Amino acid sequence: MNRKRKIILIVTAALLGAVAVGAGIFLAVRSHSRVPLVCLDAGHGGKDTGAVSGDRLEKDDNLKMTLAVGRILKEEGCRVVYTRKDDSTVSLEERYTLSNKKKATMFVAIHRNSAENESANGIEAWIKSTEPAPDKKLAKNILRQLDKVGFGANRGVSVGYRGDKTKNYAVNSGTNCKSCLLELGFLSNAEDNERFDRNFDAYAKAIAKGIMQSL
Ligand SMILES: [Zn+2]
Repeated sequence: MNRKRKIILIVTAALLGAVAVGAGIFLAVRSHSRVPLVCLDAGHGGKDTGAVSGDRLEKDDNLKMTLAVGRILKEEGCRVVYTRKDDSTVSLEERYTLSNKKKATMFVAIHRNSAENESANGIEAWIKSTEPAPDKKLAKNILRQLDKVGFGANRGVSVGYRGDKTKNYAVNSGTNCKSCLLELGFLSNAEDNERFDRNFDAYAKAIAKGIMQSL
């Protein structure tokens, strides 16, 4: 083989190798981006306790449930991003900015409710004031699954902000993807707290199922 042919062969082999590596990277990135990314938002945290009932703090219940739902989603092959994974203070803006930056497929905020009337009980979900169909479907799917386990009253899907349908919860209006905010029973209602503890695993599974039905 003369020197020229040798060089041509080496260059061709190098080029083919580069194309193969490039195609591999492309396919890996493509298939990775096809896996849904769910942004889970444990309400409150750090300095912001959320609702309080005796020594029970809303922020703790929210985090525990959020991490449990995330674990199930990961087992089911979803990618998950958390706005907080511990008891840290996170602003509302930081929450939806993270979701948008990561290009999440959907955003689910997990909270617990509170009312002066201690008999108020049950679950509800909030979606943004424009009532997008995918957001409504997401909220309804989750509530339906939770209702199957049983959680006091199913208070249904509410629109906007408590007391004003034209306003929004910041995490709903700030996120670019479909979103909803869940209120998992009332911290101010003893039976809802008992239900939350007793059925904890079943609720986590139900929320994960409702999310997966909406991907
Ligand atoms: Zn809350």
